[in-house]
Amino acid sequence: MSQALSLLKCVSCGKEFPLSDIRFTCTCGNLLDVVHDLEKLKKSFSLSRKFFEERQLRLNNQPGGGVWNFKELVLPAISEEKIISKQEGNTRLYRNRKLSQWLSVGNLFLKHEGENPTGSFKDRGMTVAVTQAKELDVKAVTCASTGNTSASLAAYASEADITGLVLIPKGNVAIGKISQALAYGAKTLVVNGDFDACMALIQDAQEKLSAYPLNSINPFRLEGQKTIVWETLMQLGWKVPDWFVFPGGNLGNTSAFGKALHEFHQLGFIDVMPRFAVIQAQGASPFYAAFKNGFKNLIPQKAETIATAIRIGNPVNYSKAVRSLQWTNGIVESVSDEEILEAKARVDSAGIGAEPSSCATVAGIRKLVGNGTIKQDETVVGILTGNILKDPQAIVDYHFNNHRPLANPPVEIEATIDDVKEFL
Ligand SMILES: *Cc1c(COP(=O)(O)O)cnc(C)c1O
Ligand SMILES: [Zn+2]
Repeated sequence: MSQALSLLKCVSCGKEFPLSDIRFTCTCGNLLDVVHDLEKLKKSFSLSRKFFEERQLRLNNQPGGGVWNFKELVLPAISEEKIISKQEGNTRLYRNRKLSQWLSVGNLFLKHEGENPTGSFKDRGMTVAVTQAKELDVKAVTCASTGNTSASLAAYASEADITGLVLIPKGNVAIGKISQALAYGAKTLVVNGDFDACMALIQDAQEKLSAYPLNSINPFRLEGQKTIVWETLMQLGWKVPDWFVFPGGNLGNTSAFGKALHEFHQLGFIDVMPRFAVIQAQGASPFYAAFKNGFKNLIPQKAETIATAIRIGNPVNYSKAVRSLQWTNGIVESVSDEEILEAKARVDSAGIGAEPSSCATVAGIRKLVGNGTIKQDETVVGILTGNILKDPQAIVDYHFNNHRPLANPPVEIEATIDDVKEFL
């Protein structure tokens, strides 16, 4: 490795590029990682578990905490006044008796990434990638999005005073998310095509129009998303859980979480690796199919699921995600929309609440406990990726439908106390 603290490096051929290069794939066509000189960073900043713990205590819920608590392992060379942040991270790790019982997992923890500034984990990646965009002095940022990336991009582009342009596939984008993109002031283009068509346009716009993409193909996004697992480990007092369970769409989190744990392992902060269980919706499960064929190849699909945030048929981070599963002895499971909806009704009625894609996590845990893959005495961390209010339509559709097992529809009454009394 050269003098620089961090470089872009191809995951396949190992070719290196400076961090200041605006590029997202190698000359060989494969994905790029942000690679840090961990030994050098550890020495120069005296990095240790204690280093991050002390800063966390000092900066809890203040600028510089959350994602930037881990600055030295995320974007070490950036000067602090250049950081574009909305204090993302520091999300809660819930325990819940009802859900523990329903899932038959005593040691269940749910990390709620829906409690970030714009309501999803995307903010953790966006703070880093927009900081880098500003550093590179780009004039416009873009993304193709099933919703949450555009909501997050719009807010951070505003914060950074950069033009934001979001491409959204026509139909099937949750109302809460498109509302946010419009409200925060990004230019929103509704594309007559699916998510994968939007993705192709974004790559074209980068090459031909120099618009800087903030999709999870952007490796700086993944650097921010690493902090989800690092923060969880600190919340658990550095006890490594047996499992991390989370949904897989474009596989950015799968990639980022694996890199995060691999780096902590290399730094000596943890000495065992947890296992990953990535959960896909049955109608959008190319990664599951690839897992089943031993990762011989990825066959793109036409994706269809109620969980719009994971309605992706050709995940861009596939090769990084395979690596993560190798590092963590990980598995992939798939769940039906029915299973997702039931899990969502459980998560919501437990008073926690999350959008459908997030609840694929919980549906997955239930399935994996049911088939004996996850043991009842194991410690399981599930990631809830987005806020309950992102997709109010999914909630209304469920609870107004009396055929749903957990439906809780509103009831019309006369304005009399007798009518009220009936429900107590
Ligand atoms: C983006 C998103 C996902 C998918 O995450 P990937 O990193 O693309 O696999 C899942 N849930 C929610 C709520 C999201 O916004
Ligand atoms: Zn390469």
